[in-house]
Amino acid sequence: MRYPKNVEIWEYAPGRRLAEVVIRIRNQRGALAKCTEVISGMDVNILTGFVTAPSSSPIATMSFFADVTDSRDGLAELKRRLEALSVIESVDVAAAEDGFMVDNKHFPVQWAGRKAIILRADALSEMLSRLRSVFGSGAATIIDQMAEAMGRHSAKEMVDDFGRAFAVDHIDELLSAYAALGYAEVSIERRKPREFPVVVHAEHLFECEANAARRVRQRSVFFRAHLRGLISGIFDAEFDVSEAQCVAEGDDVCSFRLVMSESAMPPARPRSSSRNAGSTPRSTF
Ligand SMILES: [Zn+2]
Repeated sequence: MRYPKNVEIWEYAPGRRLAEVVIRIRNQRGALAKCTEVISGMDVNILTGFVTAPSSSPIATMSFFADVTDSRDGLAELKRRLEALSVIESVDVAAAEDGFMVDNKHFPVQWAGRKAIILRADALSEMLSRLRSVFGSGAATIIDQMAEAMGRHSAKEMVDDFGRAFAVDHIDELLSAYAALGYAEVSIERRKPREFPVVVHAEHLFECEANAARRVRQRSVFFRAHLRGLISGIFDAEFDVSEAQCVAEGDDVCSFRLVMSESAMPPARPRSSSRNAGSTPRSTF
């Protein structure tokens, strides 16, 4: 079971008094509970928000929109009571009387510690569609190259952050990041543990769902190339990625087969020696 992830962008509640609250607290057990106890005690209803408490950071952040219509003591008092807690680093509040407020407390948006932008899936699908309408069949090459470069860039960051051996060992988890980022609900199938080929099932893949909705029998170009760039970059070897089935062709799910390129395969060797091939491309990992 996966659950939708909503990003704090704005809140609209006509007739209600809204607030945005950003609390920076010590990253320690029980600190968050102390804050929420104060908040609930003042009849403040927490709406959309987020908590970040990286294990590597001494500071955690709790940020949220809130409905403060029924809070008689007001935001200034909420801020004062929160600041009185020993675990608090800072409290920042803003109010909107007309039931609408946009998040203006956060920048930049980040994931994996790097600046990011949030792009809606339908906007990206529209961009890909425009490329096809302008460049015709040549668009596939442009999209393929662009997406592979993006995949390789992500792979480089993962290798920089975790080390190649760790990234290779955790390839299934890293592929699952496609779901965390909203590309598709990803699941992985392989016949033998730690071996290729691997099949990546990408349910609700934005690109192919958009094609299916427009009744365009066009398989994935963007995601397929991104996947190829990512897997090739992590393993430092060339991979071929093909889409075996696709919702745009009437299938239930999009499925991608990942196999190491023939040209990248090492010569056949006894199985016992294939695991310690150093930087040589491997069909097992
Ligand atoms: Zn597809």
